[in-house]
Order: sequence, then structure tokens, then C-alpha cells
Amino acid sequence: MSEQPKVKVVYRRLRKRLDRMPVGAPRSRSLFEILSMLFSEEEAAVAAQMPQKPASVEKIARYTGKNPAELLPMLEKMADRGLVLDMENPDNGKMYYLLAPTVVGFFEFSLMTKRDDIDQKKLAELFHLYMFDEKEFGHNVFRGKTQLGRALVSETALTQEQRTGILAYESATAAIEAEDIRAITMCYCRHKGQLTDDACDFPLDICLSMGAGADYLIRHKLARAASKTEMLEKLAQAREIGLVQMGDNVKDKIGFICNCCGCHCGVLGGTNTHGIPFTMNTSNFIAAPDHAACKGCGLCAQRCPINAISMQEYTREDGKKRKRAVVDEGLCLGCGVCAGACVPGCMHMEARPARVITPENTIERVISMALERGTIGSLIFDDENRTDQRFMRRFVNTVTSLPPAKQAVLNDKLRSRFLEFMMKQVSSAGSKSGGSV
Ligand code: SF4
Ligand code: SF4
Ligand code: SF4
Repeated sequence: MSEQPKVKVVYRRLRKRLDRMPVGAPRSRSLFEILSMLFSEEEAAVAAQMPQKPASVEKIARYTGKNPAELLPMLEKMADRGLVLDMENPDNGKMYYLLAPTVVGFFEFSLMTKRDDIDQKKLAELFHLYMFDEKEFGHNVFRGKTQLGRALVSETALTQEQRTGILAYESATAAIEAEDIRAITMCYCRHKGQLTDDACDFPLDICLSMGAGADYLIRHKLARAASKTEMLEKLAQAREIGLVQMGDNVKDKIGFICNCCGCHCGVLGGTNTHGIPFTMNTSNFIAAPDHAACKGCGLCAQRCPINAISMQEYTREDGKKRKRAVVDEGLCLGCGVCAGACVPGCMHMEARPARVITPENTIERVISMALERGTIGSLIFDDENRTDQRFMRRFVNTVTSLPPAKQAVLNDKLRSRFLEFMMKQVSSAGSKSGGSV
């Protein structure tokens, strides 16, 4: 038997650095292959030491021991390939850089366009292996209550009264209208399917980004700029063909809206392949069939992307056996795709009894995810070269992973107090450092 080649130390370090982010990066040979295809050794060495928060080139130079003048072109090249995110700090006009996580991050960015500088087919096969055939990554990403995305209820599945009653952050239309910069890019999941000879008929050119995320993607030619009209047309098309609309799981500055199919979507795949419920947070609605009117045609069950509807047999008052749609409340995302498919109009969307908690903004979502996944220490103590920081990181991560702390995190009141405290720390650190956090 031939021996597997040894994984180089720089890629081991990079994996550990990625694993300290809330979505994580469990060890696997397929992941090491992905990293060595996308990052040169020099880039991997820098990436492995980058701070956890967006930082100036000078700060990254301090963390990595590099000269800022040689570091800058490297960071810019990495940003062009979706490995590093760059954004201008509005307070001082300086560029800040952040290592992209695995998802939503460089996994998607590397297949959002057609490229010939890497073997995209091989990369797509490796992504599939890591995300679907192996189970560690999927289970790692989706552990915890707060997810990266949340279902946006299809507005056309709501009654007029329900539509006027929803809040702006619950509406895909409002999210598109709220931002001035908009972009459309290729659906990474379906492109991956195409590259691995497993294409579906759903469109590729339908991934929507807004605001700072759209600006990043356009600047680096990972997406094309789009008008509000075209974005709204894509939304309507997605509803028409039964795609699930998944938005960024924040209330303010919603950065993306994905239009997902049950056959290829990596997020819905968490349920369909790994059996994990609620891999995106639900909308504030749930599907509710009118059993008396249901014709038993099964169209809703065919359209539901996560098989949350079963057709169950029952006996009518006249003694005849019939089938009717039954919704599994332990799975339903509240997307409304089934209601759009029900021609007789028997499937409705009902408000959930308790409203779903949605993070105010990206910082709150990242802190929530890190807290629930026992990686909050990594977010705070991120300098790899300092022994005290490495010690504190391990200490805080261990304490917050212990069962009593985990229980406290699940308690909404304690959790919201902690979040409030953390947000205050972050904003005061931000103002002291010129908004670098
Ligand atoms: S999450 Fe959905 S829209 Fe986004 S890339 Fe995957 S399938 Fe496409
Ligand atoms: S039953 Fe399925 S299609 Fe209908 S809202 Fe729930 S998840 Fe969406
Ligand atoms: S599509 Fe409508 S009528 Fe057909 S089974 Fe579903 S709820 Fe019943």
C-alpha cells in the first residue's frame, strides 16, 4: 500500500487557525488537499497568524513578523482569490484585512466564477468529500442555535395582512431595497454540482449580495454589479421555481440572499445528508395545511426541499380513505415554498407562537456563534505568538465548553446579558482602535 504524503506544517497551522473561527475546520486529508490547492506555502504561513478581527496591514505585519511593504501585495492577491476579505474602514479610510473563513468564505468564493488557474473539478470533488461524504465538518458548522443563514419566508406565500405585518429584516425585497451596492454571482453549490457531473436544472446566476459584501465581490471580480430591478427579478424567479430564500442571519445590513435548492445546497444538505434539523434558522412562520380542504395531491411534499411534509392516510367521515399533507414542525423552516406549490391554496403560512431571535448585526452573530460553539476565547485572544494569549484562549474555550457554561448559553436571558456586555466591549475597543474591531 502506498503511504500518504506528509501534510506540511504550514497547512497544519492554517487548519488550526481556521478551526478557531466559529464555523471551524475539522482535520481531514481532503481539507489539507483543499488548502494546499488554494494557498501557497508562504500565504498559508501568513494566513495562519492573521488576527481574528479585521486588521490593518501594519497590525498583520506585527502578528506575522513580515515587512508591511511585502505583505500588502500578498494580501491583495489573496483578496483577489477570495482567501482574504478586504474592506475600507470608513473612520480613517484605511484598508483592513480579514482571513476568510471556510464558509461563508473561501470555499464559496473559489467556485463563484469559472477559473483556469486551479483545477476546479478536483476542488469541487474535494469540497463534496469534505462537506457531504465526511460528517465532521457538517456537524461542526451547524452545532449551536445561531446559524449563518435564516429562511426568509416567500412574500408571495403570505396573505396581504401578513405581508404588511412583517418587519423589514424578514423581507427579502426590503433587504435588496435597503442597500445601494448590489451584486449577482454564480451559485457555488450548483456550480460544484456541474463540475462533478451532477448538475440540476436550477439556474446558476442567482446568488445575491448587498452592501459591503457585494462591494468586495465586485472589486475582486467574483460577482457582477446588478441593478435593483434585476435583483428583484431574480427574487421573483426564485420564488416561481420553488427555491428557498436564505438570508444573512442578521437584522441590520443583510449581506446576502441565497436562492437554494434541496438537491445541491450545502446548508439544506446539512439536513438532507447529515440529518441535522434547522441548519438555517427558521423564519417567524410555519407551514400549516388546511386538512379539511387538502386534496392529497402531494405537490407540496414534492417541493419541500427538506422533506418536512409527509402524505398521511386518514379515514374521512364517510368512511373513504384519503391522503393529506402533514408538516413536521421539528423540521419546517418556514420558507413558504410548499404554499407556492399548492394550487388549490390549502397550504398556508402561520405565525410561529414564539418569535425567532435574530442577531442585530454581524458582530452579534459572530459572538453568539462563538459562544455557543465554545470558541469565544479564540475570538478575544488571537495573537499566536504570545504565550499569555494562547494560554487565555485555551482557558476560556475550555471553561465555556463545560456543561454548566453551555447550559447558561442556552438560557436566552443570560445569553442576551452576556451579548450586551460583549457588544459594549467590542464597541469601546472599536472606538479606541479607530474602529478596527
Ligand atoms: S447556499 Fe444556496 S444559493 Fe448559496 S451557493 Fe448554495 S445553493 Fe447556491
Ligand atoms: S414544509 Fe417545507 S417547504 Fe413548507 S415551509 Fe416548511 S420547510 Fe418550507
Ligand atoms: S399541495 Fe395543497 S392540496 Fe396538495 S397535498 Fe399539499 S396541501 Fe394538500
